[in-house]
Amino acid sequence: LFATGGEFLKGVVAMSGMPPSDRTEVCFAGRSNVGKSTLINALTGRKALARASNTPGRTQEINFFTLADSHYLVDLPGYGYANAPVAVVAKWQALLKAYLSGRPSLRRAFVLIDARHGVKAVDEEIMTLLDRSAVPFQTVLTKADKVKEEAREESLDRTRAALARHPAAYPELIVTSSEKGWGIPTLRSAI
Ligand code: GDP
Repeated sequence: LFATGGEFLKGVVAMSGMPPSDRTEVCFAGRSNVGKSTLINALTGRKALARASNTPGRTQEINFFTLADSHYLVDLPGYGYANAPVAVVAKWQALLKAYLSGRPSLRRAFVLIDARHGVKAVDEEIMTLLDRSAVPFQTVLTKADKVKEEAREESLDRTRAALARHPAAYPELIVTSSEKGWGIPTLRSAI
């Protein structure tokens, strides 16, 4: 699946622009700056596949990438900008809801959480939406290299406690660092 890297297919702003739901699909969600673009690049082995910085408030697109001929990897826009205009947030929420309930081939969402910060209120909102949409999700801790070893277990415990409240959550977390390459093979095999 990852031998040939991923290919960018298209960015869409409405359900009507989405490709047919004819491949196994996984999506990636996370707060802005969580390290999502860097992780997608590390996964696919490409340097500039997912744009490494998104401008807050800009029209937000759902980006579709193809993996081999069989899978879509979908990069959802980062959420939780402090100063995002209300209209932008509302539009993004509507598109997200439509996406999560409108893709029969969507098999799993990966929710990225910064290992230093843990699960925040905006992450809880996404997780609740995934519960309601019956999309199973797996939590991926990012930037684990930035957490001191002695603090890692505590960070994991707090995250597990948050996940226990969500029926759609897989209990297993994947701990990653794109910088160190930690957890990338595990995440690939989950996909
Ligand atoms: P996005 O907004 O979620 O797409 O976040 P980016 O991928 O653009 O990453 C945000 C910042 O975090 C950038 O400065 C990255 O270099 C940094 N970053 C991403 N992943 C890691 C990681 O695994 N370890 C460390 N130390 N920094 C990371």
